[in-house]
Amino acid sequence: MNANLYALFASRFPADKSACCIETHDGQYYSWGDLERATAKMANLLLSLGLPPDARIAVQVEKSPEALLLYLATLRAGFIYLPLNTAYRGDEIDYFIGNAEPAVVVCSPQNFGWVSQIAFKSGTRHVFTLSDRRTGSLLERATHHSDLCETVTRQPDDLAAILYTSGTTGRSKGAMLSHDNLASNAKTLQQAWQWQPGDVLLHALPLFHVHGLFVASHGALLNGSKMIFLPKFDSAEVLRYLPRSTVFMGVPTYYVRLLAEPLFDRKACVNMRLFVSGSAPLLLDTFHEFIARTGHAILERYGMSETTMLVSNPCDGRRIGGSVGLPLPGVSVRVANDQGQVCSTDEIGAIQVKGPNVFKGYWRMPGKTAEEFTADGYFVTGDVGKFDGDGYLWIVGRSKDLIISGGFNVYPKEIESVLDEMDGVAESAVIGVPHPDYGEAVVAIVVGKPGARLSADAMIAALKRKIANFKVPKRIVFVDELPRNAMAKVQKKALREQYGADKHAVAHGANLDGETPAYRARRQA
Ligand code: AMP
Repeated sequence: MNANLYALFASRFPADKSACCIETHDGQYYSWGDLERATAKMANLLLSLGLPPDARIAVQVEKSPEALLLYLATLRAGFIYLPLNTAYRGDEIDYFIGNAEPAVVVCSPQNFGWVSQIAFKSGTRHVFTLSDRRTGSLLERATHHSDLCETVTRQPDDLAAILYTSGTTGRSKGAMLSHDNLASNAKTLQQAWQWQPGDVLLHALPLFHVHGLFVASHGALLNGSKMIFLPKFDSAEVLRYLPRSTVFMGVPTYYVRLLAEPLFDRKACVNMRLFVSGSAPLLLDTFHEFIARTGHAILERYGMSETTMLVSNPCDGRRIGGSVGLPLPGVSVRVANDQGQVCSTDEIGAIQVKGPNVFKGYWRMPGKTAEEFTADGYFVTGDVGKFDGDGYLWIVGRSKDLIISGGFNVYPKEIESVLDEMDGVAESAVIGVPHPDYGEAVVAIVVGKPGARLSADAMIAALKRKIANFKVPKRIVFVDELPRNAMAKVQKKALREQYGADKHAVAHGANLDGETPAYRARRQA
């Protein structure tokens, strides 16, 4: 049997190949037949290059249907797809290409000069271009190839993709995902999220990350469902297409932005079946406001590049704001303490996982891979959390973000939740910064709601009434927005670098009102 993931998708494509598979914001329609022909041409081009079976195809291009077709063509030809964030520049691309040694690099035409220089220097023989306007040497070359292609046979454990992690500490690592890793998770999610005939996915996520490339696209492909493809998230565009869609997936920021649209209401969502959120924590406020405005409870789920999806709130059943839900069928999730014992209910510990979806290891880092698996084969996610009495998982942060102040563990999420509940607070991020007495001191970075007049002293006094003293921030800093990456994750490392350097303010233990000049100017205006 052919375990190639493309073969699985192809077996689920609709019988009517003239039906629409992808519709774009600029009025292009791709049928399922178009998808089959275009991926065959690209796969044949790749196969004509005489590459070894484990060749990596590294791709850094703007989002377009052709970018998705290239991913599918790479699967079809049996090679390994390696998507790269479009924001990466010289040094980063140099690292990824040097580390992965791709046989083929595909880049945007405007980046060809510098990307090809890096690629050729690292021994890559083929560099193609692909724009988001259906142009570039990849398509020109593919045109000359046949539009028929037998999907190359692959075994379940053969690699389908390498996803580089965002690498908040040290160098980014390449997570190796097999055909079976991706296929098993896609099938699990199809069931769990009850994909049905007639579903239409509104696709606004980037294609270089697990969320947009796997969770969203795989869902539609496996279900033979149409996708409406937006080049990027734009709340007005989403509003325009929602009435014709049934499923939408986004990072929490997308939902915050949608709620800022006055026209976003029940009527706009009349056809919608499911809103999914992930990649970063969804604020409780957003969860509740969304219900009030649209009648829909956003379904929050949890996963990562190394494992794809692990835990999800139920489709039928109670969706709990602030919790990421229940382990997906077939996925074993446990929370363990420092001694490696499984934690009791409500006890906080390290989240560890096992299942057919868990990756094969980090590319060319056997030592690092071994470090991150327990003796009984569980992958240590690096996230910290707890199970409640109903079996719902609650994430309290990354273990790297855990603060140890005066020997006590401080979980940032706990303090963030209390801060976020306060009047006038839009959101917050809690970090640890070096402190001469305590080792680390708690610092809170807070974003106020428009027009709110926040006082650090008053907030600290309120916190002291609610949480143990060692958890109370030594300092509160007000900012206009939190630094986030493309997947909406708050960049705590950047915050630690910025505020950790300001040792003086914290060393004296003063609860300084750390307003930035811009914030102060707005408050005083
Ligand atoms: P990535 O590999 O870029 O998808 O990042 C995975 C990480 O994102 C996880 O290890 C979590 O720290 C975080 N993450 C993903 N989904 C959620 C969620 N629903 N709530 C909180 N954190 C999340």
